[in-house]
Amino acid sequence: MEFTAEQRERFARNFLLEEIGEEGQKKLMNGSVLVIGAGGLGSPAAFYLTAAGVGHIGIADADVVELSNLQRQILHSTKELGRPKVESAKETLTEFNPDVKITTYQDYITEENILDIIKDYDFVIDATDNFPTKFLINDACVTAKKPFCHGGIFRFSGQLMTYLPEENVPCYRCVFKNPPEKGSIPMGNQVGVLGAVPGVIGSLQAIEAIKFLTGAGELLVGTLVSYDALTNDFRKLKLPKDDSCAVCGKHPTIKIG
Ligand SMILES: [Zn+2]
Repeated sequence: MEFTAEQRERFARNFLLEEIGEEGQKKLMNGSVLVIGAGGLGSPAAFYLTAAGVGHIGIADADVVELSNLQRQILHSTKELGRPKVESAKETLTEFNPDVKITTYQDYITEENILDIIKDYDFVIDATDNFPTKFLINDACVTAKKPFCHGGIFRFSGQLMTYLPEENVPCYRCVFKNPPEKGSIPMGNQVGVLGAVPGVIGSLQAIEAIKFLTGAGELLVGTLVSYDALTNDFRKLKLPKDDSCAVCGKHPTIKIG
């Protein structure tokens, strides 16, 4: 694969990074990432993956753009109100970098469709805002041996962790066990969030995907990073695999598909 003159100019700053360079850029252009959720986390994640020149990006989201989204969901704009988020996202990203192939899924992710959707991608980003979907993404990615990066936000804080289908790597369920009882923790539109916080976490998720595709640096495998915007604390917590985990343990009871 040869770079066009336009690509050489567009990615000039990537070429200058020895950890990426021309070889890494080719890997990005041959790579694919699925972003599940085109909201607060998915916006910066999809923007930076598109900017980096990842060849194929999938965007899954069933919702339409609402005015109360725009405080953090920077993929969309006021003129897009009422439009499906995946359409708005595709248009914005294509204008940003027309070389990137964008595939959209205007669907809720379910046990029935998830394996079929994730199978076409090298890496998955969990940019959702509810626990049942987060556990479903985890369980499906563990089942399909698909690398993914979990991300979550709450008020002024956020967290992320990357999973790889390798020995002794904890999954999201190893750490968090089960979704909390319905209503026990406020989620989605019931809770406030500072818009730039998902901006930080979603950007870090994009970086995890870029490092995975290029082989640069270290991934947050077995490590949960938590961020507190009020105190500026970034904490790294090493976490073990749980042999009794219901999806990746010795005697799994959960199987998707
Ligand atoms: Zn597990």
